[in-house]
Amino acid sequence: MTDLILAKVVKRSSGKPDRKTRVHVSVPQKREDEICQQPHFKDGSDKEWADWRKQQVTAQRKVIDACVLPLLGDEVKANFSQKAGCPCGCSPGFILTGHSGSDIWIDLK
Ligand SMILES: [Zn+2]
Repeated sequence: MTDLILAKVVKRSSGKPDRKTRVHVSVPQKREDEICQQPHFKDGSDKEWADWRKQQVTAQRKVIDACVLPLLGDEVKANFSQKAGCPCGCSPGFILTGHSGSDIWIDLK
């Protein structure tokens, strides 16, 4: 039987009402590979990695456009940032303009 639960979305207060809302999208490896095959960890060229990354970000943006933004209002936009979750860049995600005070996690199945 087809699994009807395609994504789990959790929205929590970030405890910082003035901080722009962050959205993180978790995609299983299998789905990532369907979007774009990940380059070899050592042999992938910078261009291959950049293309892979761009396609992953585009796919994540589509999920946010479909699952999250319609609930938050027309003026809310999502902008990808490598440093959305952490200043060192270890936790990339999307920063919302027009919405603040929350953290949102989307887990794709
Ligand atoms: Zn970090």
